[in-house]
Amino acid sequence: MNETDLPCSDCGSALTERMIPAKDLPLPVETEQPIQVAICPSCEARYYPEQTLTTLAGTPADPARHGDR
Ligand SMILES: [Zn+2]
Repeated sequence: MNETDLPCSDCGSALTERMIPAKDLPLPVETEQPIQVAICPSCEARYYPEQTLTTLAGTPADPARHGDR
């Protein structure tokens, strides 16, 4: 089951898969890897596949890293 198999919940258009830089996400993410999202070409709504959310949630925020000494 793919997130892009679903239509946009706003306008019903077919979603398009896109890889975007993680820093383009409205989330505090410490990864430089591109993130897969599903974008509606009609209204530009963004959907985040569960796999993407899992990847983001699994990003280790290292609390011990407070700069070099
Ligand atoms: Zn839409």
